[in-house]
Amino acid sequence: MNNVTFAPVKTDQPSHLMPVFGRQQISFVRGQGSYLYTADGTEYFDALTGIAVCGLGHSHPAVTEAIVDQASTLLHTSNLFEVPWQTAAAQKLAEVSGMEEIFFSNSGAESNEGAIKIARKFGHLQGISNPKIIVADHSFHGRTMATLSATGNKKVQDGFGPLVEGFIRVPFGDIEAIEEAAINHPDIVAILVEPIQGEGGVNTAPQGFSYLEDIRQICNQHNWLMMLDEVQTGNGRTGKYFAYQHTNIIPDVMTTAKGLGNGFPIGAVMTQGRGVGVLTAGNHGSTYSGTPLGSRVVYTVIDTIQKDNLVENAANMGTYIVEQFKQQLDGQNVTVRGFGLMIGLELPKPCAQLVDVARDEYKLILNVTAGSVIRLLPALNIDKAQADQLIERIVKMVKAFLA
Ligand SMILES: *Cc1c(COP(=O)(O)O)cnc(C)c1O
Repeated sequence: MNNVTFAPVKTDQPSHLMPVFGRQQISFVRGQGSYLYTADGTEYFDALTGIAVCGLGHSHPAVTEAIVDQASTLLHTSNLFEVPWQTAAAQKLAEVSGMEEIFFSNSGAESNEGAIKIARKFGHLQGISNPKIIVADHSFHGRTMATLSATGNKKVQDGFGPLVEGFIRVPFGDIEAIEEAAINHPDIVAILVEPIQGEGGVNTAPQGFSYLEDIRQICNQHNWLMMLDEVQTGNGRTGKYFAYQHTNIIPDVMTTAKGLGNGFPIGAVMTQGRGVGVLTAGNHGSTYSGTPLGSRVVYTVIDTIQKDNLVENAANMGTYIVEQFKQQLDGQNVTVRGFGLMIGLELPKPCAQLVDVARDEYKLILNVTAGSVIRLLPALNIDKAQADQLIERIVKMVKAFLA
């Protein structure tokens, strides 16, 4: 195999990794486009892309070139100086996001931390000393203290109390619960939701995207910040550059990460409208915020998504895949949900074991979330032949599983 340097693992010694991940007993040594390869050369179709991270596929030449060239030029200076690649990346991201101010972070959770800080400062600027943020059931916002407190999943929170205060939880999709909270809590300053819940099972609110439009109206009415977590749904994934673009509204604060760096760890918190101007000099920062290397990767990822029309491709391929699933799995009691290339197949029974079945029997990497939802997040640049390959393997597997 070409160009693979194997890690010097000492197999006669114990692993020293903190055992926080439930890992599958397989490792990949190389990736190319939509495919991953083990050391013996076995090829796997990657329909997960590191959980919506490698949107351009593995080893994309433009990203590789950007990393290699920048690594041999300048990795890091500091935000004590102007960083031209950071400025350029922010210009690109503003163009595709419709947002005005951008702060680069290093992960999704960190981007959401930034959003939470913006909401709190927004409250303090109005004399609200104990500002509260509305969040939803079944949400996922990250693993830091504030973001796990905002997350609507007990498993993420258990063992880590006391949680960060200042979050009010409502059922996802329940507008009345938000209106009720507005009456009971005069100190609410923001609502934070995912446009489509990823970890929660690839779900919009039951009423669809009109939920976001209703939230926008409520936020306008009460002078709250509308904040969207687009860590997973952003960067072309759902067939729009950002999922909020399926609606005719725009949030005040938006976060993203995952597909923003195609595997390079970088995220962003962005503002427009009443979110602008809240954070000022000295309010926020990070040593690694928008390094020359990370910023150049962001610039290159966005440039590639634009030049190769990948948002359009995600929309078209997504529509095709979902139609095929609906036809070919007709009568199987499977609910197919798709937004571009963020696709969920809800099965009539728990199906966590399909992760192993897909990998071992169908050479297909996927994920099962919320117990019974097969989640597919393939690369945005898959072609029709690859879509057909994915469809064929999934249909076979699901039919066998439900037979
Ligand atoms: C993955 C994810 C996060 C957390 O991102 P990290 O980079 O793992 O910190 C937050 N919100 C959503 C919606 C996510 O999917």
